[in-house]
Amino acid sequence: MSDVPTSLPLVFAAPRRSKPPRHLADLDAAGRRTVVEDLGEPGFRARQLAHHYFVGLVDDPAAMTDLPAGSREQLAAALLPTLVTPVRTQVADRGTTRKTLWRMHDGALVESVLMRYPGRVTLCVSSQAGCGMACPFCATGQGGLERNMSAAEIVEQVVAGARALARGEVPGGTGRVSNVVFMGMGEPLANYRAVMGAVRRLTDPTPDGLGMSARGVTVSTVGLVPRMRQLADEGVPVTLALSLHAPDDELRDELVPVNTRWKVGETVGAAWQYADRTHRRVSIEYAMMRGINDQAWRADLLGDLLRSYGDWGWVHVNLIPLNPTPGSRWTASDPADEAEFVRRLQAKGVPTTVRDTRGREIDGACGQLAADG
Ligand code: SAH
Repeated sequence: MSDVPTSLPLVFAAPRRSKPPRHLADLDAAGRRTVVEDLGEPGFRARQLAHHYFVGLVDDPAAMTDLPAGSREQLAAALLPTLVTPVRTQVADRGTTRKTLWRMHDGALVESVLMRYPGRVTLCVSSQAGCGMACPFCATGQGGLERNMSAAEIVEQVVAGARALARGEVPGGTGRVSNVVFMGMGEPLANYRAVMGAVRRLTDPTPDGLGMSARGVTVSTVGLVPRMRQLADEGVPVTLALSLHAPDDELRDELVPVNTRWKVGETVGAAWQYADRTHRRVSIEYAMMRGINDQAWRADLLGDLLRSYGDWGWVHVNLIPLNPTPGSRWTASDPADEAEFVRRLQAKGVPTTVRDTRGREIDGACGQLAADG
């Protein structure tokens, strides 16, 4: 450090962040094979490990009895390090909503939420510790960004949920994760590479991945336009959700600060382009805030804006009743205003639903994840 000027301003000091250890879920099948061969093991062991992890949901080397006892520890150390450790699990809805707080190798904390419904299980995952997007109504946005998560750290949240379901730990009998939504902590498209790596591991056929349908995976974004365009070119038809929250730039500049960089028109245009390229219906997220963005005229403006791109069913609006966050000056809309907002959008031919909010009492609902220990 002797060559660093002592007057270096504090802002240049490295934040607490460090790269997580490599894990097999960071790599594709070829990458895993290379690691295994570099250890002097036959390449097919990579597939055996992947099978244990993605199919058996096992990461304890002692249980991998098809691997020679002498190689297990070395292989597991190279490709199955412990990445996340549960700190606490809170439940609601008679155990069918479970929020887990995870500690990562460097002490950074994130949360994931499992929600079981009749016939499906949705896992809401974090993609960053903290978030740099600074939306003022979101609890995660208040603490800033701590660090990006690795692909494997993201996948681990899903595998842990799958394990709990397979073991019958979630009321309703044994089950599987059917949907993954990137709606936990972080802005997924600001951690693009790792998020795409995770999406590929979720959707790669077993045993190379979890074998989920891309249709069951939703990536939610504040609207990072170049990344939305890139996502449309990936050939993985995940569902895209755009957190719009206002149909006009004046208000959206305040609610979603990244709007000062990419305006409503450009952002909605990129969402339309995504639907056009992938033939996947885009979801517009709109958190209903009393007296802020819930006026009838804004519903009309939103409806006209979305309809201006065509009426072939490219979009649907998902209204989210605002969930309270500490210190927030905003509250949820009056139910009558919400109903009128829905009515006006539907009258313009825009399919609109109101999200059933789960886990509010355990601070596990949209925008409430803060991982504050
Ligand atoms: N950064 C991504 C994904 C995380 S948030 C994004 O913004 O899309 C998932 C959704 O919850 C987003 O639509 C977000 O705007 C919304 N949200 C944030 N805070 C909320 C709150 N207090 N009440 C309701 N929804 C909220």
